[in-house]
Amino acid sequence: MQGVVEQVKPAVEVQDPLHIWTALHSADEAKAWVEHHLAASRACISELLAVTGARTLENTLVPYDRAGWHLRMAGSQSGVMFMVHPLAEVRDAAQQLSQVIGAESVALSLNLDVYHALSAIDISTNAADAATRYYIERALLGYRLSGVDKDEPTRNRIRVLADRMTHLSMSFSRTVQDDVRSITIDTVADLLGLPQDYLTRHGVRSVASPAASGTMQLEADTPVTLTTDPPEMTPVMTYAASPQLRRRMYLAYNDRGYPANKQVLLDLLSAREEMAALLGFRSWADLATVDQMMGSAANMRTFLNEVQAAARETAQHEFAELEAFVRDRDPGALPLTLSDARYWEEQFRRAHYDFDSQSVRPYFPYEQVEAGILATAGKLFGVSFVRAENAAVWSPAVKTFDVIDNDASSPDHGAPVGRIYLDMHPREGKSKWFSECSLVCGVLGLQLPEASLVCNFPQPKRDPDNPQNDDAGLMQYSDVVTCFHEFGHLMHEVLGGRQRWAGQSGIATEGDFVEVPSQMLEEFFEDPELVRTFARHYQTGEPIPHDVFARMVRASAHGRALGTLTQVMYATYSLDTHDKRAAGLDLDALLRAGYDRFSFYEFVDGNRMYAAFTHLVGYTSNYYTYLYDKVMALEFFAEFKQPGPETLIDSATAMRYRREVLEPGGSKPARELVKSFLGREVSMSALRRWISREFGAQ
Ligand SMILES: [Zn+2]
Repeated sequence: MQGVVEQVKPAVEVQDPLHIWTALHSADEAKAWVEHHLAASRACISELLAVTGARTLENTLVPYDRAGWHLRMAGSQSGVMFMVHPLAEVRDAAQQLSQVIGAESVALSLNLDVYHALSAIDISTNAADAATRYYIERALLGYRLSGVDKDEPTRNRIRVLADRMTHLSMSFSRTVQDDVRSITIDTVADLLGLPQDYLTRHGVRSVASPAASGTMQLEADTPVTLTTDPPEMTPVMTYAASPQLRRRMYLAYNDRGYPANKQVLLDLLSAREEMAALLGFRSWADLATVDQMMGSAANMRTFLNEVQAAARETAQHEFAELEAFVRDRDPGALPLTLSDARYWEEQFRRAHYDFDSQSVRPYFPYEQVEAGILATAGKLFGVSFVRAENAAVWSPAVKTFDVIDNDASSPDHGAPVGRIYLDMHPREGKSKWFSECSLVCGVLGLQLPEASLVCNFPQPKRDPDNPQNDDAGLMQYSDVVTCFHEFGHLMHEVLGGRQRWAGQSGIATEGDFVEVPSQMLEEFFEDPELVRTFARHYQTGEPIPHDVFARMVRASAHGRALGTLTQVMYATYSLDTHDKRAAGLDLDALLRAGYDRFSFYEFVDGNRMYAAFTHLVGYTSNYYTYLYDKVMALEFFAEFKQPGPETLIDSATAMRYRREVLEPGGSKPARELVKSFLGREVSMSALRRWISREFGAQ
């Protein structure tokens, strides 16, 4: 098959134009690879602009789309290398290159000649199908939102602002990525409550107490230091009995990025505000939603109010129950602060549901979970995953699979439809986040899509000398849910990756639809039959017992309303920072006001989470996406739970979902995908059921 890359002769030759990492031993190689794609992209644009006669899809939209393909390749792979490459030199180069590519994309989005060329395509005489017409319509809207039709001085100012925004965004993210705080434990007894494997990893032993027989105490030979990396931070917040330790960890974690990022964020917000004004919008929040399903900042406020109304009463009830529980156990722990939330919610779940989230970890060793998710996704989406042993990777820790289509009615039956890369464990210098990233954008008949997961799940470690010391990489319940979530993105990327136009390929819907497939896949984790296929005890091989599973699901449902209000709080913060005037914006006061309005827990002074809230960079004002998409994901998932003889993985519903929601990629407005799958508009009813625990619990 002739790939997209062979269609343009670039200025710089590279060995493997599809994969930046195949020969990445230095920053220079990274630069050469990116330059290859930038040159190819420019060549496509020159070809498009050189056309003299009538503008057609073939002589205009095809080269435009190819130019975008090259830019997306360069942008996505540099972005991934910045997150994962083992060499700091390459990560630095990748970060700088991302800026160069960003500037190139901005230049293309402000190219008036290209805008005129696209506008001149006569879609009525060019036999354009609906997807093509939608593509052109969206592209032209994108141009107008970039300010292409403004006068020259305005366009110049927009260019300066766009560069500035890219620069500030990168700086913000980089500071967060590099800022790992650590705390040293003064008294080893402060670590009481933490899981044994966590303690062992930090050189802490449990020994019988000489003072009181039958009790255990902790010992360590050297001072224990804990970092704010999630695998070290999360267990402290969830299990450490010491409120002082939790508070120290909470403050260290929520101080990351501070103070440097405070000013960076304020500068970014004012650049965005000026940009929105130049483009004729009241605020950045209005600009950022006009081409989304949401449509406007006012709609966003209405939506957030609706969600708050749906959650408020149950949240009050949940919190009152929790307070009563704490009053009974340890009245001195009241009032509850934000650094107490996870710990006491965990204690409450243990007591009320006879469920200890530690007790299920032995059923979730990493390797089994990975195999289980591959099997689940395979069954659900009609594909299988075949290990691609010889594929080049950026680290030996990365596993690669070809995705094979098993759908008998598909023209690709038995053939590969894409490739996935799993980079699942922490590594020095690697991004601390959990994310899904496109690597190669698919084009129907020309190029298969490739995508990667970049995660930080516990790493299994074998001890060849002493197998009893093997660390199976036991995962938390929430880790497994995250894994399902990211896999939902991955499947969307791959199964949506067969479009005529690269610009509509993969996760190319409106931005506020992208968390629907991921959040929907999370819900499948509540199906006992499915989970029992892979949740087996790492030592005995016994599947997770039915009653334990049922208690786990019920326990996880507790706190949903409180959690929903926390999301409303973050979404409101992201809206307000982008809807209020940047001059005079008090990030701290706004944060505090948000917690006071939406949280029942007391604010912890010194919490400056905005300095590490990277969603403000990526999602800007649109953090609401998570909630908005949760509402849709729950409505989608309810389709799988219709009464009937089928089990939850009803293959007919699953294939309909694959066809109507995932496969179209960005070739249709998301509203149409939703309507065609649900057969109706979205409502709040599945969210209400989910919050009020009628949903999922038995
Ligand atoms: Zn996601």
